[in-house]
Amino acid sequence: MSYVLTCPNCGPREVTDFGFGGEVNPRPRSDPSERELGVYNYFRRNVAGVQREWWCHRSGCGAWFYAERDTRTNEVLLTELPEPAA
Ligand SMILES: [Zn+2]
Repeated sequence: MSYVLTCPNCGPREVTDFGFGGEVNPRPRSDPSERELGVYNYFRRNVAGVQREWWCHRSGCGAWFYAERDTRTNEVLLTELPEPAA
């Protein structure tokens, strides 16, 4: 199934221009337990609905960005660049 994603730098492109980076998964605190690391590395929510994801415009500008996509319909609700690291 093909659909359109909007790169925050380049604009709308076919999804085949992009690489999927998985659902956004917050990093654990600075000194995590083995259990917290295991959850971070191996557990995903895999929702049937809107989820926040990482995407890379690999056939374009190469930027990594966030998308909010409905996994049931592939409707993309928004795309945005991450905040610069502090
Ligand atoms: Zn781009």
